[in-house]
Amino acid sequence: MEIPASSARTLFVTTALPYANGPFHIGHIMEYIQADIWVRFQRMQGHTVHFVCADDTHGAPIMLKAEAEGVTPQALVERITATRPKHLAGFYLSFDHWHSTDSPENVELSQDIYRRLKSAGLIYAKPIEQFHDPVKAMFLPDRYIKGTCPVCGAKDQYGDACEVCGSVYAPTDLIDPYSTLSGAKPVLKTSDHFFFRLSDPACIEFLRAWTQDGRLQSEVANKAREWLGEQDATKGLADWDISRDAPYFGIPIPDAPGKFFYVWLDAPVGYLASLKAHLRNRGIDFAQFLQDPNVDQYHFIGKDIVYFHTLFWPAMLKFAGVPYKVPDNIFVHGFITFSGEKMSKPRGTGISPDVYLDLGLNPEWLRYYLAAKLNGKVEDLDFNPDDFIARVNSDLVGKYVNIASRAANFITKNFAGKLGTPAESENDRANRLTIAQMEAEAARANYAAREYGKVLRDAMRIADRINEAFDAAQPWLLAKDPARRDALQTICSQSLQGFQLLTVLLAPVLPATASRVARDFFGLGREFVWSDAWKEPTAVAPYTHLLARVEAKQIDALLEGPKATSAALLQSGVTSAASPQSSAASRTESQVSIEDFAKIDLRIARIVNAEAVNGADKLLKLTLDVGEGRHRTVFAGIKSAYRPEDLVGRLTPVVANLAPRKMKFGLSEGMVLAASGDGPGIFLLAPDDGAQPGMRVK
Ligand SMILES: [Zn+2]
Repeated sequence: MEIPASSARTLFVTTALPYANGPFHIGHIMEYIQADIWVRFQRMQGHTVHFVCADDTHGAPIMLKAEAEGVTPQALVERITATRPKHLAGFYLSFDHWHSTDSPENVELSQDIYRRLKSAGLIYAKPIEQFHDPVKAMFLPDRYIKGTCPVCGAKDQYGDACEVCGSVYAPTDLIDPYSTLSGAKPVLKTSDHFFFRLSDPACIEFLRAWTQDGRLQSEVANKAREWLGEQDATKGLADWDISRDAPYFGIPIPDAPGKFFYVWLDAPVGYLASLKAHLRNRGIDFAQFLQDPNVDQYHFIGKDIVYFHTLFWPAMLKFAGVPYKVPDNIFVHGFITFSGEKMSKPRGTGISPDVYLDLGLNPEWLRYYLAAKLNGKVEDLDFNPDDFIARVNSDLVGKYVNIASRAANFITKNFAGKLGTPAESENDRANRLTIAQMEAEAARANYAAREYGKVLRDAMRIADRINEAFDAAQPWLLAKDPARRDALQTICSQSLQGFQLLTVLLAPVLPATASRVARDFFGLGREFVWSDAWKEPTAVAPYTHLLARVEAKQIDALLEGPKATSAALLQSGVTSAASPQSSAASRTESQVSIEDFAKIDLRIARIVNAEAVNGADKLLKLTLDVGEGRHRTVFAGIKSAYRPEDLVGRLTPVVANLAPRKMKFGLSEGMVLAASGDGPGIFLLAPDDGAQPGMRVK
């Protein structure tokens, strides 16, 4: 059953913020898929989820990379964030909002939290002696200092550890240190740094309780116990250095000229900054939201950043006080490896999300495969190409999709699409639906615990059972005997109920397929809800192709990387040079399947308002009614062709499921369609008379 409205909760869910110095890699996509499945599952239970993330923009690496390219850090970050929507939409990641740590909300919240920690007596200043690059006139982070290892004598080792002998040391221990930025010999210089007093007894006491009360995964709780010095009284938490000296791309520390927050202080605050911006868009009060006892706060992260998220972050929030709220839990996952090896660009192993999408591989294949291997533990997950092909083809297509295609064909041909079980006793029917409900309850518990692998194993067991019953009934023989029509309709309808059960169970993993099954195949005219798992569909549309098999050569192309992408695009008839920059454009000219086209939700929109945008030469800001009871804002590059007042009241098709895109001027929630050629002129499309806002274009 659905969660009763009285126990429906509101969840605030985040994934770790990606550092904005490069596009997403497969590790990001894996984490986002893990979180997205959980979020979609929770939404199906009737809970309200606010699923947000942001780009992590501050710190020395971005500042220095921008400087090397001769651009501002903001321009560098903007270039990277422009690559985000392709992946977020491409892998069906249902974030409600994507923000930036370089935002007014984050400045305000980071400074507020700092001020509160300071008044709580948890911030102090202390002089620190550090290497300073006299040529670049800046203090050097450890990774920008190299020298000779003080232990084994290996040359060109980093400031914090030796890659040859594995020793860990301070940069000041290096022999003949030099700055990797200028080559200059760094000099020791003293500067005041700010510290968060994590060693404060109140902090320790809070963290002992919070990390050891059973909420955290056991591996994570054990690690925290080690850090907290539970086993060894001589160890314990060190205070945390939260400041950096100018020049630094970051948030200024209040009342401390030339001092900035270390990027790791303001990065997690970015979760709240994104939430705050998102809630404002929804007209919800941020402080009230955080204090609502019905709100739970969860963060999905990788195992490499557990220290920050189980010690610093909860302590910051706890001692900042109301309205800030300590996380309810931190969900930690392992790394993704490739055929047993760590994914590595230099070694040419691994898979690129960009190439995956450019090759037109179905994102649901990857979602399904990763889900099959994900569990609630902190374990690494291995991507194995043969296993990928086997799971997609044998399980997903061979077992699951197969049920729909076989059973629906008999129903379409013999019963005009009408389902029913006239040959089944009322008692048997009730039992069958009770079992379906029990299966759904088991899946619910497994999803909640992030045991997706168990959900999928159970689903395949159910699929086997349905396929076996179908084969045992021999419907192809029943279809030849008019006297056994009832038996034919019964076994096919039972199978299709089973298919509906499976589709509900798989819906968090396969959102696009589940949507087509609910809306088109069973004609529900809505998305599935959880209780559909044990309801009987009443009719079925003629079977149309749901999910294709993956071909080995597609995986070969994926593993060969970007070079193969170009080749594949050329083979499919694209003649333009497939440079990385143009590959997205080229892809639109290659062939797509009807399934690909169906992913685009084209709707009729009425232009309610149109206006010029201050500071944008080409853009008009359109307010659209897409028949959904609210208005959308879309920025369209059609200013050269239309006067705003001429557009008001017009109908035009809009891509309604385009991932919202944060632009300089605001959030754009879709795209209007216009024709253009080599010459001047932009021509907005229009539907024929009679079309209404919200109608689907297909
Ligand atoms: Zn060494």
